[in-house]
Amino acid sequence: MSRIVYVNGEYLPEEDAKISVFDRGFLFADGVYEVTSVLNGKLVDFDGHARRLQRSLDELDMPNPVTTEELLEINRELIARNGLDEGGVYLQITRGAADRDFAYPADPKPTIVLFTLVMNISGSPKAETGLKVISIEDQRWGRRDIKTVQLLYPSMGKMMAKAAGADDAWMVEEGVVTEGTSNNAYIVTKDGKIVTRQLSNAILHGITRAAVLRMAEEAQMVVEERPFTIEEAQNAAEAFITSATTFVTPVVEIDGAALGDGAPGPIAKRLREIYMDEARAKAI
Ligand code: PLP
Repeated sequence: MSRIVYVNGEYLPEEDAKISVFDRGFLFADGVYEVTSVLNGKLVDFDGHARRLQRSLDELDMPNPVTTEELLEINRELIARNGLDEGGVYLQITRGAADRDFAYPADPKPTIVLFTLVMNISGSPKAETGLKVISIEDQRWGRRDIKTVQLLYPSMGKMMAKAAGADDAWMVEEGVVTEGTSNNAYIVTKDGKIVTRQLSNAILHGITRAAVLRMAEEAQMVVEERPFTIEEAQNAAEAFITSATTFVTPVVEIDGAALGDGAPGPIAKRLREIYMDEARAKAI
């Protein structure tokens, strides 16, 4: 079934939606994106995603073609037109079409595209079985805090994981884990502390990460924001990832070494439940 997508002010069948070959998103990966999850036809943490979108745009000196209110309206209209119950909305803004030049155009006309994604995110089988991850070197650029569309290295990482019979890869820089290819990475120490890398330009400031850490603290869990090694992770009690479309998903194996008894751990399970309850209750 063809989707209705949003392109620069118009709702169109996906096969009629067109972008210029001169679009800087296409030529230079000069664009940013967000993925907001949808549960029961409602947006989870829309405000967090809208704020991070604005931050990414500001860091790249790129104009925002829509206000936050307009963006919410477009998201809702798209969900309604596509009858989306569960999945996500993908949003991309680029600096638009301009003659090919490394320098930004003086008067950019940004491109904005949104489309829906149908996914079973609440009942994902991986939430029950857990993920197997491998470690790979982090070879991305240095501004991972900006959510740009230059995702080739993460794609390569997913392919390396697939070739190794794993589900995903955790990236390692200077001996410590940065994050997963499309998610933030966590371990739970044997004495029950949740450890995840502190925010910096080295990782994406996950919207799910912020919510999950707040909920963990509200539930009296101890959170330590610091780097950890693959070896520490392999010897941890539990591990898990977070992202908008995976919520909290347990990790049960790292580079072939099973964590604990090889089954998802209780803290990851509990955090997933707490997160999903709040996500459903607060979705707009
Ligand atoms: N880290 C990376 C590299 C990502 O690509 C993503 C999501 O796409 C995340 C972390 C998780 O961010 P969020 O929770 O906002 O989806």
